[in-house]
Amino acid sequence: MANETIGILALQGNVDEHGYVLDQLGVAHRKVRLPRDLDGIDGLILPGGESTTMSKLMVFNELEAPLRQALADGLPAFGTCAGMILLADEVLDTRPDAVSLGAVDMTVRRNAFGRQVDSFETDLEMPALRIAEGEKPLHAAFIRAPWIERVGDEIEVLAHVPESAGEAAGAMVAVRQGTVMATSFHPESTGETRVHQFFLRELVGF
Ligand code: GLN
Repeated sequence: MANETIGILALQGNVDEHGYVLDQLGVAHRKVRLPRDLDGIDGLILPGGESTTMSKLMVFNELEAPLRQALADGLPAFGTCAGMILLADEVLDTRPDAVSLGAVDMTVRRNAFGRQVDSFETDLEMPALRIAEGEKPLHAAFIRAPWIERVGDEIEVLAHVPESAGEAAGAMVAVRQGTVMATSFHPESTGETRVHQFFLRELVGF
C-alpha cells in the first residue's frame, strides 16, 4: 500500500477527523482543494460539514467538473453526511443554487431528522461490515444529518436507523453504488475505523 493515497475533499468540514482515521490505519492521505490535487489519488473521502458551503467552494475552485469526471471514470469515493449530500443526484431541502455530483442514484433530504432528533447517536446494524458477535457494535453519530428517501435499482442499502431510535426508525442511512458509498452519520467522529476499512478494502481495493 506504500504509494497509495486517499484524497480528502478539504473545502470545509471534518477534514482532519478523516485524516486521523486514515493515520490510524496507516494510509497516506492528501487534501483535495484544487483540480490538480486529484492527480494520482486512489480514492476520495468527502467529509461532513455544511453541504451548501462546500458546494459554493467547489464551484469557486472549479472542482465540480473534474470531480464529476473522476467519479464517472471510477474513482472510489466515500461521503459522510454533507459529503453524502454532495454525492447524490437529487437533494431536497437545499438551496436552489447548490450543486451535487450525481455519483449515486439516490434522493437525499438535508437536515431530515427534524428538530427533536436533530442530532443523536445510536448503534447501527451494518451487515456488510461483518462485525462478529461480541465485537463492539457500530456506534453512529448523526449531526443535523440527511437521510435517503429514494434509491435506484443499482443501490445497495448498507444500513437503516434501528427500530429503537424512535420516529426516524427505518430511514436509509448508508448506501453503496459500485465504487461509491455514503453514510448519513460520521464514523470519523466516534473513534470508529471499520467503516473506513470497509471502504478501503472493498471499494478502493487496498
Ligand atoms: N446539515 C448539513 C448539510 O446540510 C450536514 C451536516 C453534517 O455534515 N454534519 O450540509
